[in-house]
Amino acid sequence: MSIVIVGAGLAGATAATELRDQGYEGPVVLVGSEEHAPYERPPLSKGYLLGNDPFEKALVHPLEWYAEHDVDLRLGVTATGLDTDSRTLSTTGGDFTYDQLLLATGAEPRTLPLADSADVPVAYLRTVEDSDRLKSAFGEGARIVVVGAGWIGLEAAAAARSAGSDVTVFEMEELPLLRVLGPTVAAVFADLHREHGVDLRLGTEVTPVDLEGADLVVVGIGVTPRVDLARSGGLDVDNGVLVDARLRTSVPSVYAVGDIANHAHPRLGRRIRVEHWDTAIKQAKVAAHNLAGADEEYAEPPYFFTDQYDLGMEYVGSAGADDEVVIQGSLADKQFRAFWRRDGAVIAAMHVNDWDAGDTIKEAVRSGKLPDPA
Ligand code: FAD
Ligand code: NAP
Repeated sequence: MSIVIVGAGLAGATAATELRDQGYEGPVVLVGSEEHAPYERPPLSKGYLLGNDPFEKALVHPLEWYAEHDVDLRLGVTATGLDTDSRTLSTTGGDFTYDQLLLATGAEPRTLPLADSADVPVAYLRTVEDSDRLKSAFGEGARIVVVGAGWIGLEAAAAARSAGSDVTVFEMEELPLLRVLGPTVAAVFADLHREHGVDLRLGTEVTPVDLEGADLVVVGIGVTPRVDLARSGGLDVDNGVLVDARLRTSVPSVYAVGDIANHAHPRLGRRIRVEHWDTAIKQAKVAAHNLAGADEEYAEPPYFFTDQYDLGMEYVGSAGADDEVVIQGSLADKQFRAFWRRDGAVIAAMHVNDWDAGDTIKEAVRSGKLPDPA
């Protein structure tokens, strides 16, 4: 039985790894548009961008690993069409037939025409080449404008400030990360950046005049899932590729994971598309088991983390900006645990700079119960 994986990013490479780790011995082909061996993206806006870590540290495996494990890695090859009747994948490197297919094509940055048409250098951040571009523009006195105070915007702003750049951030909402964290916790991130000298312009729509004189405009206004291939194969698509609890698409021989997968989450009881590192890894493992014949559901809660200046945090679960939040610890000292409740049950939790709290926040979300502050 041959398995073909499209997208040699974190999810695709993890699926290939899990297939071999679990003893699957059939042919595995891993097709990816990028020229690099599969790598993780979090360092692109953190350690690698700051110049602290080499690119090799971001690789899922050294390049040799793929040949050593008989994974047929095709780099610089883009899948262009899918025929699910004949089970044929067309690519820029020829056609591949498969028995089981995994789609892990990820997401791409939303573009901002207003910036692209301005007469200033504009960068998005998704690939290592993008990160190199930011790194070379950041430096003492460089004028950096960031559009969007989401994850990319805030992490890029922190790296730019750490390199000594003058940084202005534009965000349409009244607070950064408001939709994800709600007003109480989002305010901590606004304070953090202002304390580090960022000119944070909130509730403001950026205009062409705001970009004038910038050495680089970094746009981080969200991503869209790459679903063209899934569409060409006639798969059901709606805000990503629709998959069931077992990560199977509307065509039984095709699975989808990571940023593109809009998953019918069995514990949450609703669909969710998660654009985070942990989900890409864990979904890929479950999909690998199912590709090899298992019948597992994916039921993990979403999880993500960030590092900005000296603030680190981890978040588990899924809450909205309007859910009630209970704080244990000190917001002012930026060392606390936050628990979001809906109908009395904890549905999400995070800690900031409290690295012993990882298990506590996970348990709170698992049990739905608020832990004793003591
Ligand atoms: P991707 O990583 O996007 O990989 C998809 C791959 O598929 C790409 O290499 C692409 O070139 C390839 N591809 C696409 N279409 C085709 C095609 N037709 N043919 C062949 N190949 C194709 N998450 C966190 O939880 N914490 C973080 O701190 C964090 N930091 C991040 C920092 C940055 C700068 C970025 C960009 C993302 C960050 N994320 C973070 C999010 C995390 O990286 C993503 O959720 C994760 O990469 C998703 O993995 P994926 O394999 O689904 O997609
Ligand atoms: P994001 O987290 O979705 O944030 C985008 C931000 O830009 C939101 O605050 C959004 O506001 C705002 N925005 C949208 N349109 C805008 C506009 N025209 N002008 C100004 N602001 C605008 O996306 P991202 O920061 O671009 O990150 C890209 C991807 O990388 C995401 O998948 C993200 O999860 C991932 N990533 C994750 C991490 C991490 O987990 N630590 C780090 C880096 C990247 P609204 O909320 O109102 O739309």
